[in-house]
Amino acid sequence: MVDPPSSPVPDRALVLFSGGQDSATCLAWALARYPWVETVGFAYGQRHAVELECRAPLRAGLAAFADWGGKLGPDHVVDLGASMDAIGATALTSEAEIAIGADGLPTTFVPGRNLLFLTYAAAIAWRRGLRRIVAGMCETDYSGYPDCRDDTIKAMQLALNLGLQRNFVLETPLMWRDKAATWAMAEALGGAALVALIEEESHSCYRGDRSHRHPWGYGCGACPACDLRRAGWERWRGGGASR
Ligand code: ZN
Repeated sequence: MVDPPSSPVPDRALVLFSGGQDSATCLAWALARYPWVETVGFAYGQRHAVELECRAPLRAGLAAFADWGGKLGPDHVVDLGASMDAIGATALTSEAEIAIGADGLPTTFVPGRNLLFLTYAAAIAWRRGLRRIVAGMCETDYSGYPDCRDDTIKAMQLALNLGLQRNFVLETPLMWRDKAATWAMAEALGGAALVALIEEESHSCYRGDRSHRHPWGYGCGACPACDLRRAGWERWRGGGASR
């Protein structure tokens, strides 16, 4: 492994990698495209912190693919726990009920989370000389998070490029894909082996349940994240995925 240069290199990437299905697929997407790919993860007191434990086995599994192992660079972990607690409890960071709040936003919405993530990611990319920042935000299976919108990401790219005096490219390969198409994308990138890796090692369940194994992976089977993952998997298996 060589040390990357300190000035930005166009084809070097940093992937926001949580340990979930979407970010695992994004990491495979980046490894298939770019010669050097680093990852960043955030601890923010999420009650499904078990997803962070999925990151190392997923990275190891992806590095075992013949074309990808030599491209996977260091992993960065940023601990935002205390600062996110200070902003306020939500259903992702406390035991509050997972539901739609009076303002129309899910109670799992963590205000400013993705904006903070992208800002930290850009700071790391700036220091590491990485130009592309890859993230799994998606509007199609819209979960009601305004910070996942395409316009939000485009505005963040502009703000980061002005504020850090760089020309980062924020890439969101899942923005217009639904969950079925995300499974199909994994299959196209890495075949049945990648699908099996994501099924087994990635985590989506908001309740952090790793004790129940379904055909589509581990989870409680009842929370909104499990519902999305299962419905997408079933639609993809049934041949209903749009690409
Ligand atoms: Zn669940």
